[in-house]
Order: sequence, then C-alpha cells, then structure tokens
Amino acid sequence: MTDFAAIEGDAFRREVRQWLADNFPPSLKNASSLTYQTNPDEARANADFCRWKTLMGESGMGVPTWPKQYGGAGLSTEQAEVFQEEMSQLNAFNPIFGNGPMMLGPTLLEFGTEEQKLEHLPVIARGESSWCQGFSEPGAGSDLASLKTKCEDKGDHWLVNGQKVWTSFANHSDWCFCLVRTDTSVKHTGISFLLIDMTSPGIDVRPIELISGITHFCEVFFNDVKVPKANLLGQLNEGWSIAKRLLQHERNGLSNVRRAGPDVVDLAKEYVGVDENGQLVDPDLRCRLTTHQIRSQAYKLTLKRISDAENAGVRSDIAVSVVKNLGACVEQSKSELSVEILGYRGLGWEAEGYSDEELAVTRAWLYSKAFSIYGGSHEIQNNITAKRVLNLPSAK
Ligand SMILES: Cc1cc2nc3c(=O)[nH]c(=O)nc-3n(C[C@H](O)[C@H](O)[C@H](O)COP(=O)(O)OP(=O)(O)OC[C@H]3O[C@@H](n4cnc5c(N)ncnc54)[C@H](O)[C@@H]3O)c2cc1C
Repeated sequence: MTDFAAIEGDAFRREVRQWLADNFPPSLKNASSLTYQTNPDEARANADFCRWKTLMGESGMGVPTWPKQYGGAGLSTEQAEVFQEEMSQLNAFNPIFGNGPMMLGPTLLEFGTEEQKLEHLPVIARGESSWCQGFSEPGAGSDLASLKTKCEDKGDHWLVNGQKVWTSFANHSDWCFCLVRTDTSVKHTGISFLLIDMTSPGIDVRPIELISGITHFCEVFFNDVKVPKANLLGQLNEGWSIAKRLLQHERNGLSNVRRAGPDVVDLAKEYVGVDENGQLVDPDLRCRLTTHQIRSQAYKLTLKRISDAENAGVRSDIAVSVVKNLGACVEQSKSELSVEILGYRGLGWEAEGYSDEELAVTRAWLYSKAFSIYGGSHEIQNNITAKRVLNLPSAK
C-alpha cells in the first residue's frame, strides 16, 4: 500500500491522480454519498461501491488526516485538500462517510481514552461501523441543553431512559453517540456524553416516514438500557463541552460538503437556451445566475482562506457558524435557480414523463430546505455569531 503521507509536493498530486485513475470505478462517477447512506442494502449489493470502500478504508484515505495508528493516512491538511481536489476533478466521492468519520472520530481523537480510540477509530476509518447522533429530543432542539434523557449510575453500569427524535439513520446504525442527563439540578453542567451500542436491549427505533417515502429520520426510545461504564466519553457532567466541539465538526463538515448535481449554468443553457452570441436568452435569469456564481465563488474562496489560515496554525472555530449559514444560502439559491430553470419539468415527483436528472433536481430542491435547520438552525448560528464573533450582548 502506497505511503501517501511520505510523498511531497507535486509528486504527491501526481501519485494521487494516478491512484484515483487506477482505482476509482467509473460507474460511481457523479454519485453522491447520500444515495449509499440512505440505501445501505443497495450499497452492499454494488460490487464497485464495495471495492472502492475497501480500498479507501485500507489506504486510510477515507479519513486522510487521522493518524495511521487509528486507521487514517496521516496526511497533512494540505495533502488532504489536494486529494479532495483530485477526487472532485474525477467527480469521485469518499465512500467513508457519515457521522462516524465526520463528527465522532475527530471528537474521540480529542477526548477519547486510548482504549476508546483503538476500539472505534480503525473500524470507522474502514467504514465498517455506522453512528447516529442522539442529541435532539421532542423538547430539546435549538435549546439542546434542555434535554431530559435520564442516565443513572448503577455502580457497574449506566441506566438510560428517555427519547430522542430526528435521529438520522438510527435504523441503520450500529452505535449512537448520545447526550444524557446525569444531573437534574443544573442545566449545561448536568449532561454527559455516552457511546451506546444500538443492539443493546431496551432500544426501540421507530423510523418516521417522510412524504418522499424514505425513512431517514427516526425516533429512538431508551427503556432501561444498560450501558457499560467504559462508554462514557470524557468526564461525568462534561458532555456539553464535548458536544459543542462535536457540533463544530458537524458544522464544518456540513459547510464543506461538495454537493453533487448538474451545474446550474449548463442546466440554464440546456433548458432556457442561448442566443446567437451564446448568451442566455433570459437577461433577468442571466443576471441572477451571475450573482449566484459570484456568491458561490466568494464562498469557496472564503473556505480556502480559512483552510490556509488553519494550515498556518490559526484556529478558526469562530468562523464555523458564519460559514455554515453562508454555505446553506449558496446551496439553497442553487437549488431554487435549478428548479426555476427546469420550469414545469421541475414539478416531477414520480419517474413517468420526467428524466432521472429532472427528478433529482426537484428532490435536491426539497432537501435543500433542511440545510438551514440541521446542525443547528440558521437563526441559532446567527445568535452564536452575534455573541461569539461580534461580542454583542445576549437578549435577556
Ligand atoms: C435533515 C435533518 C437531519 C437531522 N438529523 C439529526 C440527527 O441525526 N440527530 C439529532 O440529534 N438531530 C437531528 N436533527 C435535528 C436538528 O438538529 C434540529 O431540527 C435543529 O437543531 C432545530 O431544532 P428543532 O427542530 O427542535 O426546532 P426549534 O428549536 O423548535 O426551532 C424552531 C424555529 O425557531 C427558531 N428558534 C428557536 N430558538 C431560537 C432563538 N433562541 N432565537 C432565534 N430563533 C430561535 C429556530 O431557528 C427555528 O427556526 C436533524 C434535522 C434535520 C432537518
């Protein structure tokens, strides 16, 4: 197996390009990781997908910057960016996806015991375990610290009782990283962070069927669930600090996601048409598309600037909420424009009469509504920015 971390400069890019050309299955071009995350059976049945996942897992390239002893490739952030750029060039995607690599892994690296890291990180790095996020509850979404799921110390184990909601992919997950209340007398400092095996007796997962027919969300009920003492991450009652760090990884991951889908300008040329000079025939749309392209480019450059600053040792945690909101706006405007460009062909629901690409655009538009909700809503990110970036006083 090539030791990518040891290769420097231009040679690294050449080696990576060659490796991707040799190994990325062309049949997976333009596919999105979400397709395989939503349909694990389809993923398991797809030989190309399985081979690609094994290769990326074995090489550590699915979690490129993690240390090698925990299953990563030990790359620098610059090398990882080059790798991402080369994947984008090929319209390839990382098959090691989900909450494990994106959120729990980096959090475990920071707060986990050596035993916890060795138990979970290599398995996540190979894409062999899937994790759900047990944070939201019926009365605790934006005000997450109001959570009530109770966790009692029973001497040789923890006992968990309560309910979570909007738990994405809980019905396909092996593990749950879960916030639980271990002290009811205080709010933020009475929360702990537990790693819960989803096969534990007493866990009841109820998928919530969406209008689209998919069941991405679940309710999760914990009825006298016993959790080993060793599955507490960090110290008792310090779960809130760990959760805040994990949410930064989540927002970072969400703002960085490169979403699949047809290029909006290509779509406009095809559906709206161009004049003899090659210009879009609709000047108003042309103007709005240009505005979108400028914002999108500015957003990408902002991400690049943050990443350059991080490479130079400047931590940019503070920018995460701003970037999450900007990314959501850019992606939502792309979806709005795409559906508008399709005209009546953007109204499809079932396949009949509509191409797969048209249906994908419509569904992407519907899904884009979630970008400003999940990972903390738009308004909450603005509150965080007001308080932590602009130092404005809190409302009483
Ligand atoms: C696609 C998707 C996937 C998700 N996956 C998961 C998951 O896997 N695990 C998980 O734990 N959760 C998950 N969630 C839940 C998500 O984190 C919550 O929906 C989100 O935090 C908002 O909470 P809420 O839905 O309870 O809305 P509420 O908190 O009820 O908010 C409703 C509205 O009021 C606004 N609001 C609330 N408080 C304030 C305030 N103080 N100032 C200004 N405005 C305010 C909000 O911004 C929002 O617009 C997911 C959500 C979505 C959409």
